[in-house]
Amino acid sequence: MTRFFSYLLLFTSFAITATPSRLALSDYFTETWSTRSGLPHNSINSVAQTADGYLWVATWEGLARFNGREFKLFTRTEIVGLPDSGLRSLISQPNGELYIAGARGGISLRKAGRWQTLSSAKAMVNHLLKTRSGQLWLALEGQGVVYRQHDSAVEHQVLTDVSAYRLVEDQTGTIWAATSDGLYKIRAGKAVKVPSSSGLPNTSVYTLLLTKSGTLLVGTEQGAWQFNGKRFESINPVLSNQSISSLLEDSQGDLWFGTINNGVFRLSELGLEQLDADAGLPANRILSLLQDREQSIWVGTNAGLFRLREAPFTNWTKKRGLAGDYIRSILAHSDSSIWVGSSSGLNRINDNQSVAVQQADNTEPLSVLSLAEAENGQVWVGTYTSGLMKVVNNQIFPVKDRTNGLLSNEVRALLFDSKNRLWIGSANGLSTLNEDGQLSVYSKSDGLVGNFIMALSEDSYGNIWIGTGVGVTLYNATTHSFRTLTFPEQFSAEYAFGFYQDGNTMWMATDRGLIRYHLIREEMQLFGREQGLPVDKLFQIVEQDQSLWLTSNRGVIQVNKAQLNNLLDNPQTVSNASVSLQIYDEADGMLSAQANGGSNPAATIHQDERLWVATAKGAAVITPKRLKEASQLSLPTVIEGFFVDGKAIDLPVAGDVLELPAGISRVSFHYAGLSFIMPQRLNYQTQLSGFNNQWLDRSQLTITEYTNLPPGEYTFKVRAGYPNSEWQNNEQTLRFKINSFFWQKMSFKLMMFIGFILLGYLLYKYRLYHYKRIEIELTEKVAQQVKDLKKQADAFAYQANHDQLTQLPNRRSFDLWLSSHFAEFKRDNKILAIAIIDIDHFKSINDNWSHMIGDKVICEIAELLKSAMLHREHIARWGGEEFTLLFPNCSALQAQQFCENVRQTIAAHDFSAIAENLHVTVSFGVTDSRQVNDYDRLLAHADQALYQAKSNGRNRVEVLNASAL
Ligand code: GH3
Ligand code: MG
Ligand code: MG
Repeated sequence: MTRFFSYLLLFTSFAITATPSRLALSDYFTETWSTRSGLPHNSINSVAQTADGYLWVATWEGLARFNGREFKLFTRTEIVGLPDSGLRSLISQPNGELYIAGARGGISLRKAGRWQTLSSAKAMVNHLLKTRSGQLWLALEGQGVVYRQHDSAVEHQVLTDVSAYRLVEDQTGTIWAATSDGLYKIRAGKAVKVPSSSGLPNTSVYTLLLTKSGTLLVGTEQGAWQFNGKRFESINPVLSNQSISSLLEDSQGDLWFGTINNGVFRLSELGLEQLDADAGLPANRILSLLQDREQSIWVGTNAGLFRLREAPFTNWTKKRGLAGDYIRSILAHSDSSIWVGSSSGLNRINDNQSVAVQQADNTEPLSVLSLAEAENGQVWVGTYTSGLMKVVNNQIFPVKDRTNGLLSNEVRALLFDSKNRLWIGSANGLSTLNEDGQLSVYSKSDGLVGNFIMALSEDSYGNIWIGTGVGVTLYNATTHSFRTLTFPEQFSAEYAFGFYQDGNTMWMATDRGLIRYHLIREEMQLFGREQGLPVDKLFQIVEQDQSLWLTSNRGVIQVNKAQLNNLLDNPQTVSNASVSLQIYDEADGMLSAQANGGSNPAATIHQDERLWVATAKGAAVITPKRLKEASQLSLPTVIEGFFVDGKAIDLPVAGDVLELPAGISRVSFHYAGLSFIMPQRLNYQTQLSGFNNQWLDRSQLTITEYTNLPPGEYTFKVRAGYPNSEWQNNEQTLRFKINSFFWQKMSFKLMMFIGFILLGYLLYKYRLYHYKRIEIELTEKVAQQVKDLKKQADAFAYQANHDQLTQLPNRRSFDLWLSSHFAEFKRDNKILAIAIIDIDHFKSINDNWSHMIGDKVICEIAELLKSAMLHREHIARWGGEEFTLLFPNCSALQAQQFCENVRQTIAAHDFSAIAENLHVTVSFGVTDSRQVNDYDRLLAHADQALYQAKSNGRNRVEVLNASAL
């Protein structure tokens, strides 16, 4: 088989000169998935891609869905009603539907993310076809072909007693059936076998394909055949003894053949190529073929799933004609050829073909370290052990070595400067070679910082940059002197492996990262590990597509130049993460991620924009344009899972709002960008409107979680993007609503609010009522108190003016009355008479009886006076046992008569109720106002009259100066 394979290669190599728009099968980047990667079974019966971007894999142990990173299994739990765990075929419809059919005849349909199970067929369904008119045709194992009208479960038998494997419908509506009994042509429900006279071998037909141009291809037990309109003819004689199990036409029109025992064949303008287990297929038994939307070819074998893809990198190795695999330097020549120097020789690659360039005497293979192109196009070669050489007419000739002036035979760097002088950097010093053949040598004693020279470069000012193992020396073209460029100590960089000038910036690749040096300002900044560089040591710097491409022992690093400059300009304010950085390695098609450095040039950009890198396993070639193309492919994004408090929730139908209960604390979203080429490089952004209305970078994270979201409506959005490219319009959304507890509801809050206001109002009303009542009470109280006070005041006034014992007006009252009325009487010429009464011998009453009896006597006399007088107010107790009487408008004589009556009444009064044998008499002194001008005199006159009454024997009424009146 290996010999056969080489024969094929030989056979195809003639076609290589044609425009190679496709890779040789051997140059594809391949990967295998098996049960170890999460597949349920290694027999890949069918592979399909749905319109949403998912890849589906049918196995004997069920269905798996692939998102580029992991397989999700769909079993009979997810697909309710499907009788089969073993699945035989998958048919993806352009409208996004997916039919799956199983070993027991089960058929399910996935539509808008939901599964529905149709009625089962009577045997294993090998293939299924939905015709343009909507009929469902089934190719059954051992039971022929049947069809169903639309959604009906009624089956119409078209072919019996054969095993049918594949069905296609051509443009005319004819259905072709591949069966164990050959090819059948079915028109209007009638099957007719295609006779052997048509050119087809009389054998089983396993598969069919209708090409984009409408040609029917037939895969049989004996080769692949195509219908030319009249007959079937063999597609390729080499295939004739192959059993063809599957067919595929790819996007370029190339045909792929899966065989039962010999792997995969491809027929293209590169010829017929084979890929089998020896070349990396997991097995030679092929069950299915598919090309996905990213052009990758998927091969289902009975030992796993295999994929061929055009990786960013392809490689030139010994296998493709190079002298060796350990590549040290690569030169992009002005004639558009590429020169590759390896540890075992030199090759020139032109038009995709490699030619060996050897020494004229062809003695031993040269170990090439460095290369340079002279002005005349000659290629000069620095070697490991043979010094400096040059290529003339495709043959290598020695120029200089230790025997004729070089300081070392180990020539690591070569540079033709603008004056056409050759600079030679060796392991032991620097030399220059003029056009006239004159050699000059320089070493540490001439001002070089070190003698181990690895890199040489001329800047636009004509200065030569010399990279050594201990730093950089600059040769000044005007002063012809050397100057050492010291790296800041904190960089701790020593080796300078490569230079790249960009305007006034000189980028330097060192053993501590990338140093940026400003040629005018002479400032240096480091982009090293601390700034986010994933490695310490960088070898070469080339620029392409707005990026710096840096080679390292761990692969090729692509850094966005503008972002990098921004970071180095503003180290305080710009974060490392803002610099887009990709590292390419074996996963991207490099045979070895270990790039070589230490001699020059170890990486270069060709005129066709491809980047060539010297590695430990070949020359790795990347087409940045291809990376860019990949990033311009439309990239579907899917939301795969929604978890609420750790529990998976069924995703809602697009547009629906998912309702979530109140009180949930954590929601998480699982999502994926459905790219199968570089899924691990995809970046994601998410947004949760209702919470935060801007896109947040999630870098490579495929899960986003939110905790403690308040109740409300939210829309989760996610989009996936390729690195170094604009975000596509591929966002997926999921709308959900977190319900609120009754106390979180607006209506409740409103109710509470109204309640509060009401309560406030009631409180206010109550206070008002309360205050009113208090006011009334207070008023009443005050009124009462005023009343009491008045009463008291009245009492006081009464007390002040009345005698307590007799309740008669007292002397004060009498004096007040007299002082206020006397003048009045006088002015009005009215007469006012008064009388003073004194109880006779009252002392002896007190003495003979008691003071209490005396008091009673005083009271009794007062009562007698009261009953005698019309106006009580005109009587007063004058003091002790004395009383006064007022007689307004009375003369003294009139008053005398009245008093005489009173005297007799008292004298006749019976006091025995007070004391036995008590007899009381009183004496009166009477006068009037006519002879006096003030009331004092009036009183004095009355008192004099009383004195006369006492003197004249008591119990009498006397008038002062009665004769004068
Ligand atoms: P007379 O007027 O007839 O000359 O003799 P008299 O005994 O009444 O003498 P006088 O007027 O000098 O004395 C009055 C006495 O009355 C003196 C005092 O002890 C007594 N007295 C004054 N006020 C009261 C009183 O309110 N109650 C009693 N029980 N005795 C009083
Ligand atoms: Mg007296
Ligand atoms: Mg007396």
